[in-house]
Amino acid sequence: MDKKLINKGIRSDGRKLDEIRPMIIKAGVIDRADGSAYVEFGTTKVIVGVYGPKKVHPRHMENSQKAILKFRYNMIPFSVYDRKRPGYDKRSVEIAKVVADAFENAIFLEEFPKSAIEVDMEIIQADAGTRVAAITAASVALADAGIPMKGLVSSVAAGRVEGNIALDLTKDEEDVSDAIDLPVAMIPRTGEITLLQMDGDATVEEIEQIVKMAEKGCKDIEKVQIAALLEKYTTKGTN
Ligand code: UDP
Repeated sequence: MDKKLINKGIRSDGRKLDEIRPMIIKAGVIDRADGSAYVEFGTTKVIVGVYGPKKVHPRHMENSQKAILKFRYNMIPFSVYDRKRPGYDKRSVEIAKVVADAFENAIFLEEFPKSAIEVDMEIIQADAGTRVAAITAASVALADAGIPMKGLVSSVAAGRVEGNIALDLTKDEEDVSDAIDLPVAMIPRTGEITLLQMDGDATVEEIEQIVKMAEKGCKDIEKVQIAALLEKYTTKGTN
């Protein structure tokens, strides 16, 4: 009695296959950080704070040619159904690494030699897509901190559910047997893809369709990121 999640191209939450969950992006939500952002993709909720460019500790880590990036990804205990043990684990360290790689070519690191840019990504609530929501938030937070970049990095996952190519999978969709999920990050302004991950099996045609759908999703997300930054910087000082 398997209940299908997708019927005639409509998903269990009412979305079409190429639709992103309701999205909220806010820039500059924390006063203490140099830059910050909040992102919701449906019930996945992420907050990011950026510090820097600042001095590198320990000093031997500094690079005389460019800034170093220190990304941290953390799921807070109540972000998932079974309370998550506090602290970093193998998965969070791996995600922080791939997220940092997604920004390495986007940020003009050479402008800040011997310094560090720290990005703390906190997952408040998880319903799949936390790394892509975190990248989307980190990008806005970096821009809010005034860090120069080639363009914003925008990110979303696309995949296959019950044989359909679909955008922005929920946890229920990801958990369907045979589902695959490809997180993609890109700089829409230049067209560069800066993150592409995948587990599971897919045909070349499927991967092409999935990446194309994710690219379109990233372009739509960039518009909302820009709107969030404009909202902060055009309303500031009016109170
Ligand atoms: N998840 C969880 N507990 C964990 C890790 C993940 O419940 O310790 C859930 C959570 O909803 C997460 C989803 O599994 O969003 C998918 O995790 P994945 O590692 O694929 O990363 P994500 O899609 O969040 O980037």
